[in-house]
Amino acid sequence: MARSGVKIGLLGGTFDPPHLAHLRIAEEAREAFQLSEIWFIPAGYPPHKERPLTSFEKRFEMLSLAIKDNPFFKALDLERKESPSYTLKTLKKLKEAYSEYTFFLILGWDAYFEIDFWWHYESFLDYVEIIVVSRGRGNWEKAPFLVKERAQRLWGRENMVHFLEVFPLEISSTKLRKYLQQGKSIRYLVPEEVYFYILEQKLYSS
Ligand code: ATP
Ligand code: MG
Repeated sequence: MARSGVKIGLLGGTFDPPHLAHLRIAEEAREAFQLSEIWFIPAGYPPHKERPLTSFEKRFEMLSLAIKDNPFFKALDLERKESPSYTLKTLKKLKEAYSEYTFFLILGWDAYFEIDFWWHYESFLDYVEIIVVSRGRGNWEKAPFLVKERAQRLWGRENMVHFLEVFPLEISSTKLRKYLQQGKSIRYLVPEEVYFYILEQKLYSS
């Protein structure tokens, strides 16, 4: 397979809203794996979420504000019209469009341990390698082993899946939405411009 040496990280999510931990895991993965860029891919309508999401347009707008000062970060709207959106279809499209690039799918610990519920996860490693990042505080000593063991069990290819311990930030969009519903400030947990956008648009407060 022809390889240009360009390595791209992919970070999918609902980003409802995007927060500092999303940016931080992207930055740490970029540094640790010498990735040229990180492409953020907001989900259209993820099949495994029951809660109604904020519109794609608003989530995309918030994400664009969150990453705008980092030249290595891009937002892709590939899943804008996908309803429901399937990660595998996105990976396939990217691999077709950029066949010479090596892609790394970045997943939080929680997402990796749910991956066998994702549509045709069996084929993921045909298109990407996976970087699993730690989530929150904890004892991550056994994590590299657990990640490899699962990769071996699911795909029989443990060399394609990597573990990265990142700075522990206990932020989740769920918690942020809860704070906003309770009328509490989420300033300094999201980029300033995302914070002001949420206030202006009166998101999550009803
Ligand atoms: P929600 O609570 O709505 O699920 P979230 O905070 O988990 O939101 P997502 O958009 O679901 O954010 O996450 C996108 C990706 O980022 C997932 O792979 C998730 O595991 C990862 N991620 C999110 N927050 C963190 C965090 N604090 N530390 C490490 N990884 C994270
Ligand atoms: Mg999540």
